[in-house]
Amino acid sequence: ADRIASRGGRQSRLVVLAGPTAVGKGTVAAHIRTHHPDVALSVSATTRAPRPGEVDGVSYYFVDDDEFDRMIAAGELLEWATVHNAYRYGTPRKPVEDALEAGESVLLEIDIQGARSVRRAMPEAKLVFLLPPSWEELVRRLVGRGTEEVSEQQRRLETAKVELAAVDEFDHRVVNRDVGEAAQEVVDLMQTRKTRR
Ligand code: 5GP
Repeated sequence: ADRIASRGGRQSRLVVLAGPTAVGKGTVAAHIRTHHPDVALSVSATTRAPRPGEVDGVSYYFVDDDEFDRMIAAGELLEWATVHNAYRYGTPRKPVEDALEAGESVLLEIDIQGARSVRRAMPEAKLVFLLPPSWEELVRRLVGRGTEEVSEQQRRLETAKVELAAVDEFDHRVVNRDVGEAAQEVVDLMQTRKTRR
């Protein structure tokens, strides 16, 4: 069994963490960055402006529309999407390919459209859907975060409703009750072979 498992190895070390807005994907990813430095965390490019405390090249690569267009045209993005009908976000292809080539586990924290694109581009990727403990808790987190205007919060909640319906397309579900436990579940999934539900 070990022989078979290691043969599936390389591509199946790519894990995509997606889920509705405000479910805590970023928090879980940050926890993994701190506690599991062996996991390569992809840094996305985005056209949105940095929030206070976000560092260029760590949180995201903050680029303007022209640079994002250039990256698309040059084939530098593994996937990209317009999120919440506003800004564009994309995964730089080369760091992901290099890390997988080096035998590292790679984590992409991206939106659901992005997860679908990665599955098409790399069918061996494991798709993990992060769920809130409840809808009420999701609303509480989105409003409590206080980083968006009220109109933007409304827009994101509408998006979240649609996004939650995508859960059945995913290989695994993780409920984000406790960030440490959710992070550990995601890391554990990186060690196992891809299985279909
Ligand atoms: P935020 O603006 O709150 O940092 O992120 C907004 C949304 O963009 C989140 O759902 C996040 O997962 C998604 N996102 C971040 N990076 C990428 C990416 O590279 N590709 C895609 N498709 N979505 C991303």
